[in-house]
Amino acid sequence: MSREIFVTRSSMPEFEEYTEEIRSVFESRWLSNMGAKHMELIRRLKEFLQVERLDLFTNGHMALELSLAALGLKGEVITTPFTFISTVHAISRNGLKPVFCDIDPETYTMDVKQIESLITENTCAIMPVHVYGNICDVEAIETIAKKHHLKVIYDAAHAFGVTYKGTGIGNFGDISCFSFHATKVFHTIEGGAAVCHDDAVAQRLWEMKDFGIHDEETIDLIGPNAKMNEFCAAMGLCNLRHVEGEIAKRGRAAARYRKNLSDVKGLTLNRIQPEVKPNYAYFPVRIEAEEFGASRDEVVSKLKEQGIYARKYFYPAVNACGCYRDTCNPDDTPVAKRYSEQVITLPMYADLAEADVDRVCEALLESRR
Ligand SMILES: *Cc1c(COP(=O)(O)O)cnc(C)c1O
Repeated sequence: MSREIFVTRSSMPEFEEYTEEIRSVFESRWLSNMGAKHMELIRRLKEFLQVERLDLFTNGHMALELSLAALGLKGEVITTPFTFISTVHAISRNGLKPVFCDIDPETYTMDVKQIESLITENTCAIMPVHVYGNICDVEAIETIAKKHHLKVIYDAAHAFGVTYKGTGIGNFGDISCFSFHATKVFHTIEGGAAVCHDDAVAQRLWEMKDFGIHDEETIDLIGPNAKMNEFCAAMGLCNLRHVEGEIAKRGRAAARYRKNLSDVKGLTLNRIQPEVKPNYAYFPVRIEAEEFGASRDEVVSKLKEQGIYARKYFYPAVNACGCYRDTCNPDDTPVAKRYSEQVITLPMYADLAEADVDRVCEALLESRR
């Protein structure tokens, strides 16, 4: 078997760049609790993402969980079943009830035409996801939220660096949360951030990530420990220097995929959105088994035989997972259900060579019966 191609591969700085970055951490022995690297990364990310207020967390999930907590929500939150399980767990772990809205067939994001029919007197918020870096209909969501006095918390885990009409994607909604997990476009090994637009909310987030501590003798909030440490922040500082180049390299791999797969019967590629600067976080392909000549699951196992690892992302839909199945019906979101059975994300990372893209595409096409 030829060399394996994995679905993702973390971007890394040069070893020496990282060791140079952590030299001062060794010297100061200030390893966590909002040290110099933590504060510098906040400053640099605010610039890069064009946002006013940003806080760092141990991971993207804690950013989501604490964002819901910081807004003091109670009741039902409308969200999407076509996401990573983290989104919905963040709702449930806050004692809130997730209500699933189906997705738009073009963008994989929440179908805004269906949101209002799901609003009840208990609805407190909408939690949409910028799936694969495709942006939600942020304008329609804002209109609905204003009309019904709902908070909007975006799961922007896939959308680092994406802009819409020149505006950083973190500026939409009440809070937007990013993930800096090792597999994401930009990473801090593990990490995450929340962007908000209100000083009081920002202050609550700042305290909540550190046990709710305001100062040595004042603790008025209940919170976990979700502080990003200095080694992770240092990795972020290094990766941020190169992220634009890394996104450009992903763009070249994406263009190669498009060239190879655009006109294949039974394959639907991700739509390019107008006025959006993309980050090429993923390369999703939807497979219509009859037209293509092989089902999604057949394709995944055929690729695996060739040492190529594609991912069924997202499968199963969240409302079909054991932990939520008893409280909802996946048939209520038919598009998400069908798409979760058809979609694969192909290998995508900055260092993916064009020759490897060609090999993946060849194996994909050969998997037809
Ligand atoms: C990665 C991811 C998360 C969670 O982020 P972590 O940093 O892994 O905790 C949440 N939502 C989505 C859509 C993700 O892809």
